[in-house]
Amino acid sequence: MNTPNAEWRDLDALHHLHPFTNHASLRAAGARVIVKADGPYIYDSEGHRILDGMAGLWTTNVGYGRRELADAARDQILELPFYNTFFKTTHPPVVALSQKLAEIAPPHINQVFYGSSGSESNDTAIRLIRHYWALKGEPSRRVIISRKNAYHGSTIAAGSMGGMGHVHQHSYPVYEGFRHVMDPCWFDEGNDGESLDEFGIRAARAIEDEILAVGPENVAAFAGELVQGAGGVKIAPNTYWPEVQRIVDKYGILLLADEVITGFGRLGTWFASDHYGIKPNLITFAKAVTSGYLPLSGLLIDDRIVEALLAHDDDFNHGYTFSGHPVACAVALKNLEIMERERLLPRVTDYAAPALARMLGKFKDHPLVGEVRSVGMMGAMELVADKKTRRRFENPGRVGLICRDHFFREGFIMRAVFDTMVCAPPLIWADSEFEEAERVIGKALDLTLADVAGEIAA
Ligand SMILES: *Cc1c(COP(=O)(O)O)cnc(C)c1O
Repeated sequence: MNTPNAEWRDLDALHHLHPFTNHASLRAAGARVIVKADGPYIYDSEGHRILDGMAGLWTTNVGYGRRELADAARDQILELPFYNTFFKTTHPPVVALSQKLAEIAPPHINQVFYGSSGSESNDTAIRLIRHYWALKGEPSRRVIISRKNAYHGSTIAAGSMGGMGHVHQHSYPVYEGFRHVMDPCWFDEGNDGESLDEFGIRAARAIEDEILAVGPENVAAFAGELVQGAGGVKIAPNTYWPEVQRIVDKYGILLLADEVITGFGRLGTWFASDHYGIKPNLITFAKAVTSGYLPLSGLLIDDRIVEALLAHDDDFNHGYTFSGHPVACAVALKNLEIMERERLLPRVTDYAAPALARMLGKFKDHPLVGEVRSVGMMGAMELVADKKTRRRFENPGRVGLICRDHFFREGFIMRAVFDTMVCAPPLIWADSEFEEAERVIGKALDLTLADVAGEIAA
């Protein structure tokens, strides 16, 4: 492991193709080599300490360097490193975790189907939704309505359910049976003079319009992230989710909540469905269930769907070798135990979420910033050419990357989604981390402003 930095970079370029990456530009610049992490910080091979404002990739909710999680993995590897759950077999870690998840999930949800990634579990959801309607004798119900800018993963099915054009472009072709309606982000979609509440209702009604256009007898489900994460931390107004619930109830269609980011405390509740007071039939989770220490995902399934499965003496022909992997389950259990013991959920509500909102709020008058927004421990800053009219820069993504690079050089990670700067810190941030982030953001925004000053509206 003592290979010098330049050599890691060269070997990486020779042998490793990265996800969601422009390979020509990565080859030109070389990857940054991250060698270790502790608490809220990561460290690169040149010895820089970097404050991780993205919690890995929306994952590391309890922070890095937790010895207890390492011990849980080690103990389970020695006890039972792997056994499958296909052939009427089970094992203690998967049983214990399933019981725990049923306890913290909304009351009408009591069963879990596991995978190893959010994409996989959304594929499970897509299959199960269509299978459910077939079992119910309504096989014409196949259409799943989701939203533009949604991210549900990168397999072909989950990518088709997602609403990102650049993902669809590489799906050859996008699966049929998915319809995408407007997302509930006021900054992009709101009309001047329209209140947030009015906008929330209008955005939800777009789902009803689509149901009527497709024919309610053909619609199986509506799927959405409770807060669109990869799409740019797009936060729905408070009127949106209750209206969505009313609409799915009215037409009897299933509601799939993709909580791959919002699950496990990011909004101060176990699931954001609790935060918004909705009752999904299905909840996808992944990322933070293990705080990213090992890959694990799952689909929480409500009693209505489970009863339909139980009423039929037949297989559900679907599953993964690593469904319910014992080591990942053991780490997940320990991770949830840490969250409870350290009271991280109330900590988000009472301290961290208000601190993040306050910190971002300090930049709302900056000449580059068109809007700041946050909910729980997820936040965004819109970089714009004209604050007054919300006009964006030419070549979307260019200024965001300039800004992201300034952040990185100053020792802080925020992600650029085109020109929206997003953050999702671990839930453990204290005053010192918020203060450090504020210093760096101020400096990086000023440096970015200097780079693009000629493009800013007077
Ligand atoms: C990351 C993400 C996924 C996909 O999860 P993978 O583990 O990368 O397959 C799905 N949905 C949402 C909301 C995500 O943020």
